[in-house]
Amino acid sequence: MSTHNDDDSISICANCGKEGSDVANTCNKCNSVKYCNAACKKKHRHKHKKQCERRVAELHEIKLFKQPPPLEDCPICFLRMPSLGSGQLYMACCGKLICSGCIHAADVRDKKRASLCPFCRTPPPASRREMINRYTKRMELNDPIAMSCLGGFYTDGSNGLPQNYAKALKLYHQAVELGHAGAYYNIGNAYRYGRGVEFDIEKAMHYWELAAMRGVVLARNNLGATEQIIGNVDRALKHFMIAIKGGNKMSLDAVKHLYKTEHATKEDYTKALGKYQAYLDEVKSNQRDKAAAFRAGYKYY
Ligand SMILES: [Zn+2]
Ligand SMILES: [Zn+2]
Ligand SMILES: [Zn+2]
Ligand SMILES: [Zn+2]
Repeated sequence: MSTHNDDDSISICANCGKEGSDVANTCNKCNSVKYCNAACKKKHRHKHKKQCERRVAELHEIKLFKQPPPLEDCPICFLRMPSLGSGQLYMACCGKLICSGCIHAADVRDKKRASLCPFCRTPPPASRREMINRYTKRMELNDPIAMSCLGGFYTDGSNGLPQNYAKALKLYHQAVELGHAGAYYNIGNAYRYGRGVEFDIEKAMHYWELAAMRGVVLARNNLGATEQIIGNVDRALKHFMIAIKGGNKMSLDAVKHLYKTEHATKEDYTKALGKYQAYLDEVKSNQRDKAAAFRAGYKYY
């Protein structure tokens, strides 16, 4: 790109060719070209449009296929949090996510079916109503996980709440505004299944992308599966690999299937197995194994 200059001090106007430190009016779409003023920018827009769109698409691809950072550690045992939903529990008392291993260890220690919260020592809710009250209280404190969970209850019509897709979507949108990645995944699913919105697979993929870039492996796996269905095996494989590193077993099975049907190489599958093993090495623990053996709902990989 001849008009692009990495050195901030001197730039060249993509329209008139003027050089200087005052050439600082950047294309705010692609961020890749500069102009001396708004007039030059406007004049050049027509010529730049195609290149700009290509650059924007390139930048999106780079961002999309970057490996996101792993989930935060469990605040009790300090081990990497498993990405499988049943491997972690949200505590509506204090708003902490705790791993299933630590939850079960507390139950065993206190000899109870449900013990005090291992983080804040609050007793478990006595009723479903009290449980919902806790979520609502957390929601009012702007806790996006509580919002997303309540959205889930409204989506399913569970825990005594009526099924209400519109309410669910509103809560998910509130949650993403507060930075909760999982709610992007839920919005994607709403478009995928036409819950409260028209079915729209492109919008579903858009929201799954936003979730996947923030580390939601289920969204990443869905992207891989969708790409596979439409025949983009290369893109599917790239998504699956990132999801596997994040601990998604479905993506590992998908790569295995691609290998067996000769759509992926043996190296691909070996690489996938290695990534999954590295994940297991980080999340596996005795305590979590015990919890998973005790209750299927505590399964963590
Ligand atoms: Zn100019
Ligand atoms: Zn541009
Ligand atoms: Zn833990
Ligand atoms: Zn708590």
